[in-house]
This record gives sequence, structure tokens and C-alpha cells, in this order.
Amino acid sequence: MDHNGRQSAGGQGLVHEQRPPLALVDQLVEASARAHGHLCPGQVIGVRMAILGLSRLGYTCPLGWPEIKNVVGIVEIERCLADAVATATGLRFGRGSLKLINLGLLAVTFLDLPSGRAVRVVSRDQARDLAAQYAPGTPSPQAAQVAAYRVMPDAELFDLQWVRVNLPPSEMPGARPPKVPCQGCGVLVRSGQVHRQDGQNLCAVCAGQAYFSTLDQPARNP
Ligand SMILES: [Zn+2]
Ligand SMILES: [Zn+2]
Repeated sequence: MDHNGRQSAGGQGLVHEQRPPLALVDQLVEASARAHGHLCPGQVIGVRMAILGLSRLGYTCPLGWPEIKNVVGIVEIERCLADAVATATGLRFGRGSLKLINLGLLAVTFLDLPSGRAVRVVSRDQARDLAAQYAPGTPSPQAAQVAAYRVMPDAELFDLQWVRVNLPPSEMPGARPPKVPCQGCGVLVRSGQVHRQDGQNLCAVCAGQAYFSTLDQPARNP
């Protein structure tokens, strides 16, 4: 275990060789590649992260009913593996059960709501260098990664951390915080995203927190 409380995903001894059943990996990777639009190393990594993280919380992939109501996933990058985590787990951005906090890290945290236990699965950069050893004779580095990540032991692919996640009540799946009218423009602000500014309740746009700026004229094609 290192100073961040990280530990190798496999633990010690024979456990070091642990990996999920290949049939399960292949079934989930096939489904995620179909949903994502192509088969890439990120699909295999995301599927393996989902299987490993949920198994440590006592669940199997994909989550069935009612287990799916008990888990929140937080992906830390807006890349291929986010789609794989969604397909493999059944968690969804549109249901508040999957969240993106883009830290630019190949990592996913799974939070078990009933117990409050949370496990963070972090992809190990060294796995890329090992890929060729696990898949000799593959035509490209990407093909080697896809083939190798199917079979590599959990401990080679990932580090695990037990963490505490402080999810605000408004971020909980199924939360229904009150809708508050913006005192600047009148739109209803949902999901607890109201900004208090100078004694007023404002939407993000009126509070100057928008991700866009408004144009006076329609944008023209170049
Ligand atoms: Zn991809
Ligand atoms: Zn407003």
C-alpha cells in the first residue's frame, strides 16, 4: 500500500493472478463496443474497471434491479472508458447514477449508497508496456492492448483505493431539490444549481457562470 492508501488490485500471493471470467469480459466488451461505436482499449479497460470495482462492493456486472438503485459511479475522464463503464454497469448519466468529474485521470469510483463504502479503481500506466507480452504477434499496439487487457490480472491493470465520497444530497440519484425561479431571467433552476449572489437567486447564466457567451446576430457559416 502506498502513501495514498492505494493498493495493488490483486492483493498478495495467488490472488495476484485474479481476473474475471473471460466469457463475462467478452460479453460486456461486445455490448460496450456496439454502444460506443468501435472496439478500443478503453472499452476493455472500462469493462474491467466496472467488474472489479463492483465486485469489491459485492455486486456483479451489469447491475440488476434493485441493486442499480444502490450504486453511484463517478468517472474521472471524458473518454472511451466512460461509455464502457456505463454499458457494463447499467449506470447512466441521465439517471444521476453515473457522474463525470473530469480530472483527466483514467479512474472510476463506485459508491455503495446503503453502506457508504466507496472504491476507486485507477488504471496503471505500466499496463500499456506489458500489453505486448500478453498478446504477442498482434498487428498493432492498439490491437495488443485490446487483446492483453482482456486477460491481464487485475493487479497488473489497476490500483485500488478505498475512499470516502461526499456526495451532496442534491447529487443523489432520485434527488428532487426544489425548483427555484431565477430572479434575473425567470427560468426555473433545477437540481440545486441556483447561485446566491447579492441576495438574489440566479441561474448560472445570470450569475455569469455560463459556459458560452451570447451573440447579437446569428452565427454565419464560414
Ligand atoms: Zn473508443
Ligand atoms: Zn437567469
